[in-house]
Order: sequence, then C-alpha cells, then structure tokens
Amino acid sequence: MQQADIEKLRSTTVPAQSHWINGKVHAGQSNLDVYSPIDGQVFTSIAQATKQDVDLAVAAARTSFASGVWAKAAPAERKKKLLKLADLIEAHALELAVLGVRDNGTEISMAYKAEPLSAAATFRYYAELIDKSYGEIAPTAPDVLGLVHKEAIGVVAAIVPWNFPLMIGAWKVAPALAAGNSVVLKPAETASLTLLHLAQLAHEAGLPPGVFNVVTGTGAVAGEALALSMDVDVLAFTGSGTVGRRLLQYAAQSNLKRVYLELGGKSPNIVFADAPDLDKAAKVSAYGIFRNSGQVCVAGSRLLVEAAIAEEFTARLASISSNIKVGDPLNLTTEAGAINSASQLEKSLGFVARAAAQGGTVITGGHRIFEHTGGWYMAPTVLANVTSEMEIFQQEVFGPVLSITSFSGEDEALRLANSTDFGLAAGVWTGSLSRAHRMIGAINSGVVHVNTYGGSDLTVPLGGHRQSGNGHDKSAHALDKFYNLKTAWIQL
Ligand code: NAD
Repeated sequence: MQQADIEKLRSTTVPAQSHWINGKVHAGQSNLDVYSPIDGQVFTSIAQATKQDVDLAVAAARTSFASGVWAKAAPAERKKKLLKLADLIEAHALELAVLGVRDNGTEISMAYKAEPLSAAATFRYYAELIDKSYGEIAPTAPDVLGLVHKEAIGVVAAIVPWNFPLMIGAWKVAPALAAGNSVVLKPAETASLTLLHLAQLAHEAGLPPGVFNVVTGTGAVAGEALALSMDVDVLAFTGSGTVGRRLLQYAAQSNLKRVYLELGGKSPNIVFADAPDLDKAAKVSAYGIFRNSGQVCVAGSRLLVEAAIAEEFTARLASISSNIKVGDPLNLTTEAGAINSASQLEKSLGFVARAAAQGGTVITGGHRIFEHTGGWYMAPTVLANVTSEMEIFQQEVFGPVLSITSFSGEDEALRLANSTDFGLAAGVWTGSLSRAHRMIGAINSGVVHVNTYGGSDLTVPLGGHRQSGNGHDKSAHALDKFYNLKTAWIQL
C-alpha cells in the first residue's frame, strides 16, 4: 500500500447509497447524511430503513432459505462461492480500506489489515471449514442408531458497531453463511459503506439473491425492526451493553429468537514489577489502548501497576503516549486516527472531566486536538490516581483514555482486575510462569494476554464473560452458533 494510491481514492465521489435486498439495490424513502470524522463534512448518504424495508429484507432472506438454493447446496459449493468472495474482498482491499476510513476514522495502517484483509481471511477460514464439519453417530445400544445432524437454522440477523465494521461483520456473516443460513445485516449508521460494498461483492461471487442482504439506518428504527421481527431466527450482535439488554427484551417480546451478544469491556492490563521487559510493557500497553483512538472493544483501558514501579512506569507510559502520532487517518504514518463521531468525542471528553473532578490526575492529553480541521480528534489521555470506585475505573469510555491504578501484591491485583461488571479481555506482564498461570485461571475474562496485549488470530475465540456478553466470534466454535442440532433416533 502506497500513500500515492491512497491519495487517488481520498476524495472520490461516493454516490448516495441504497439498501441491498434480494440481490439488488433497494432505494430508501429517506436518507441519512454520512459525515467523515476526518473533517466533519458530509460526503454521502445512506438509506434510512423503515420497518417495511426491514420486513422486505427478512422476507427475501426467508424465501432464499426456504428454496434451499443456498442451505441445501453441497458444502463444497458454498465453500467455492465464499472463497471467491474472499478473493474479491482482497482484490478490492485498498478501495474498501479507504472508503471505510473516510466513514469511521480508523488509521489506515490498522484498517487495511484489520478490515478488508481480515474480512477476507475470515470468509476463507469458514469456507474451508464448512466441508470438514461432520455430524455425529451417538454411542447408543446396538439396536438403535442415534444420529446428530447439524442443520442451518434459517434467517440470521447481524447488527454490528462502527469501530471495525468489515471485520466484525465478517465474524458473523461468514460462519452464518457457511453453515447455510441466509443473512440480513444492519451496520452502524456511522459505518455502513464498506458493508454495502461487501454485499455487492457477495453478489459478484455468485451468492444467490436474498442470501445476503444489508439494510442501513438507525438502531432505533432499522435495528429495532430487525430485532423484533417474528421471522428472524438468530440475532448476532456486537455493540454496547445498553443495546444488548434491549435486544434480549425484543427477543422476549417477539419470537424468542436466539441472541448472541458481544458487548463492551473495561479490560485490566496488569504490570507486575517482575515483568521481563518494562520498556516493551510500556510501549505495548500504550498502543494497546490508543490504536484506533481507543475505539477497540478489547482495549486495555485500565492499567494496574505494582506500587514499587508505579511512578517510573507511569512516566514511561505517559511519554510514549504523548508521542503517539494522532492525525489524518488516511496518512500511512498516522498511529491513531479520528474519533468516529462528534458525540463519541464529547462522550470521551466528559469522562475525562468527571474523572478529574473525582480526584484523577490528567498526566497527558485530556483535550480535543486539530479542531481547525473540522474533524474529531482527541489527544491520547492518561489519568493517574484512579481508584476502583471512580466512574472511569468502572465504565467503558470507548475512546483514547487510559486510567492507572497501583496495587500491592497479586491478591490486590486480582481483586481490582475482577471488580467491574465486564469480563472481555485482560493482560498480565510478569516473569513468573506460575504467576501467569494463576492469573489466567483467576481473571474473569474471555481472553488473557501474557507479556503482550491485543494479539489474536482466527484460530482462537473472542468473546466476553459476565456483562461483556456470550457471543464468542471466531474459531471453529463460532460455526456451531449458526447450526441447529437435530437428533435422529432410529430403531434397528
Ligand atoms: P451500539 O450498541 O450503540 O450500536 C451497535 C449497533 O446496534 C449499531 O448498528 C446500532 O445502530 C444498533 N442499535 C442501536 N440501538 C438499537 C436498538 N434499539 N435496536 C437494535 N439495534 C440498535 O454500539 P456502538 O457505539 O456502535 O459500538 C461500541 C460498542 O461496541 C462498545 O461498547 C464496544 O465495546 C462494543 N464492541 C464490542 C466488541 C466485542 O467483540 N465484544 C467489538 C467491538 C465493539
């Protein structure tokens, strides 16, 4: 990827966007402006789905499912088309990455890999898995044959957030389609463009009409209609706990659809004095919160540092943080891009102001920057002297804000680590293998990083414990979310 290639795409005109339903564009009755976080300017619009549009998309998905054109196709056939889709995503990677950055503000050095390339890898992974996924013969008495079939469920609705729309969208859409379901996807209103493009690529790859549909618009209208639909069988969601709670209510009010929730986090990153390389720990910890301006579900937003090294480590970390290159997300050298929306910027600044009022000390950052560009940028912010009762310790900011709390000994570290409602991710920096294993066993979260922060790939699940959800995206386990198990009990 060269800067000159990015520049060619930076300002291309993006026409007003329509929904993608039943293999073709479907114009909305009204549109929503799309603002770029880079300069705060409107650069296109998306359609605002009504309940009727959503019902149309669900009906298209149901019809395609019932016809068997996809669900009953040989797994090898679905694999072929999904592999083609992966190739097409890769072929359009730069175009998709730039479009996505203009829409959501993530720095392109991260977005290029984390969005199109990761989405392509995800489609490839589940395409490859689908013709290697067997049913079971149960260990019954010899006069009976017990078969366990895995069957596609029907219509899967996916509702996704704005921070990594293609990556997170692919984590849901790829296994759902691979298993033979038909899908209706609703992107976040501030990050819909790449997912609309994905639908067109899926069509080009040969997915039959109605198998993959995208409706755009607000959560309150389009998302709610999808979640309340009586004809959606599974709802796979990534987003905030507030909306996650509503989705469970909608499922209860409608057809008891299966609901998978991938929610927020307030992940502890614990640095012990015996960590093998404190320079590395400081650098990785800073980037572990400030990449994508902190708009990362697993961001290590609560640094817990052993008292003996707290002062020195805080100084090191603050120095690294204040040198992180924030700026134009389409510049290849930018390390942290823009905040997704004006309201998200305001929200992050509000958290900092309240933390300072409650006794936290702003060591670096704490303010908006580059206001003259019209874009939404915030300086990486480090807050020290944070205690466990403070809001900033307990609540997810989803912005470039790191809180630091010191501890004495392993027991206190664990108590602090487990003292929020969340349980998404954690980090432990220590030179002791025994301590690392004790912490892995005792920290209540879906992933524990040891002597690193934030690494992962498709081979391992990503999902929360406690109020961080129940969804578990990625890995072979995610495929099982989109099957029904059916038992055949045959008397011989
Ligand atoms: P959000 O919950 O506000 O919105 C997520 C999606 O839900 C959007 O598409 C939105 O339009 C839709 N929505 C909003 N209200 C709705 C309603 N009433 N009915 C149906 N749908 C509705 O979240 P966000 O601000 O877009 O994303 C940030 C959140 O996502 C953070 O909490 C973050 O931690 C979480 N997240 C979690 C993971 C994970 O894997 N666990 C990954 C990324 C982001």
